[in-house]
Amino acid sequence: MTNYITKRKEFDLLKKRTFFNKQINKILEKQNHRCFYCKELFCDIFEVGNRYKNNTSVPKDIRDLPSQIFHLDKYTIDHVIPLSKNGTNEISNLRLACLICNCKKHNKII
Ligand SMILES: [Zn+2]
Repeated sequence: MTNYITKRKEFDLLKKRTFFNKQINKILEKQNHRCFYCKELFCDIFEVGNRYKNNTSVPKDIRDLPSQIFHLDKYTIDHVIPLSKNGTNEISNLRLACLICNCKKHNKII
């Protein structure tokens, strides 16, 4: 039972990420899956849908997740206009940058 609850939590987290990833996927497509600044390819795609697809102990809503989910840890989401300056979470205000470029950018601002 405990094991199930732990799994359920993991799945809920996954679902949240998937919802967010729908938006991220659009930006990734726009940027050809590359960093906005250095054009480095974000190559850490892992297949979540496929991982669970044939596992009947996993709830159906999880199994039906899109097969491609991008690993958020490897890139950062950059707001063109910062939220603190009334920027939005609209796709037009978002850019994806690799960790290196994001650090560089922050260094510049400072
Ligand atoms: Zn970069």
